[in-house]
Amino acid sequence: MDYFEYRNGELFCEDVPVKTVAKKVGTPLYLYSYGTFERHFLVFDGAFRNIPHLACYSLKANSNGALVRTIAKLGGGADIVSGGELHRAIMGGIPARKIVYSGVGKSEQELRLAIEAGILMINIESEGEFLLLKKLSRKMRRKVPVSIRVNPEIDPKTHPYITTGLKKNKFGVLWSEASRLYREIAAEENLVPVGISSHIGSQILELGPFIEAVTSLRSMILELKEQGIAVEMLDIGGGLGITYKDEMPPRPDEYAGVVEDKLRDMGIRLILEPGRVLVGNSGIFVTKMLYVKRTQGKTFYIVDGAMNDLVRPSLYDAYHEIIPVVEAAGKTAAADIVGPICESGDFLAKDRQLAEVKEGDLLAVKSAGAYGFSMSSNYNSRMRAAEVLVRGSEFFVVRKRETLKDLTRGESIPSFLEV
Ligand SMILES: *Cc1c(COP(=O)(O)O)cnc(C)c1O
Repeated sequence: MDYFEYRNGELFCEDVPVKTVAKKVGTPLYLYSYGTFERHFLVFDGAFRNIPHLACYSLKANSNGALVRTIAKLGGGADIVSGGELHRAIMGGIPARKIVYSGVGKSEQELRLAIEAGILMINIESEGEFLLLKKLSRKMRRKVPVSIRVNPEIDPKTHPYITTGLKKNKFGVLWSEASRLYREIAAEENLVPVGISSHIGSQILELGPFIEAVTSLRSMILELKEQGIAVEMLDIGGGLGITYKDEMPPRPDEYAGVVEDKLRDMGIRLILEPGRVLVGNSGIFVTKMLYVKRTQGKTFYIVDGAMNDLVRPSLYDAYHEIIPVVEAAGKTAAADIVGPICESGDFLAKDRQLAEVKEGDLLAVKSAGAYGFSMSSNYNSRMRAAEVLVRGSEFFVVRKRETLKDLTRGESIPSFLEV
């Protein structure tokens, strides 16, 4: 469910024609629908109404300040994976008591900042991190609420790059080691074992892996209880998938149903870390056709958006639906939709059937709200795209397109090279 649709043959985001924004802001650009994002949060959060819970938006999916503020306004929390995201969450108005921090490589500086801010919980991902936190909590004389991100050894049946809960992955701690660490945490005056966490992967399209994960976390909680360690929170991570093409992901209420089922009578507060499911279908990427290039038997649509803007097709071979902003009639033809970057891996789609479009036409790459802008870079010295938020019949530039000045900010020429 999203608020992008054709009206009289022209693509609209809510009540704003996409063409109008492109004309005003230029291309390429990311376009987000406030109404869609808000609705996704309310539906997701509402699905868990029968159980004490906190939905912590996973900032890495899309950390634009306007979106973070939307979550804050709706009462949500934040799931962060770096000191930069901690900064963004707090700037966006998310109370520290609603922030959870995951990640395998948190630096001492990042952990300090999180402790100082007084966040809800730090999800420990290794023995080394535990030792560092022990040291910091003593030095800073602060009680630090922690959880261990356990690796439940579950195959979420998704792309290998976004699978995180298998033994061979770098994430989390195996239960045998985690149970020992919990005892050490409990023995440490300044570390408080408030939760247990897991996040098994992303773009998960079946309930099975979630059921397995919650079942196994449930028995871990009971085992901890027997040892006198009572955790109050179960953080089941994010990972619920969305429709890019014809996938049929579980609905939030179905997901909530199976999770609740396993946690009834546990007296536990559930922490959720949804990213993609909230923002993925809330955004599109708009790009302009530069050239139609025909070579022997192959057609390339060369567009002004590239892998530096949207890397998912190149990185994960991900599928994004691509549609013309002005509905095109006529026969369709197969083309590779590629960007200007000097890499053969720079494509948005391969062998895609599209109605004939011509130079100057606008294309909309759908479902680009998650892991789109947030993974973008300046490769090939391309300036990162503008981001625009639509609400009803209004639109707001929520991040300006970068300028040439932005490209070289922070660089300096060493004195021996000065002329
Ligand atoms: C990436 C990530 C999420 C969000 O995943 P989605 O698939 O976008 O829902 C949640 N928790 C952790 C720890 C993550 O790394």
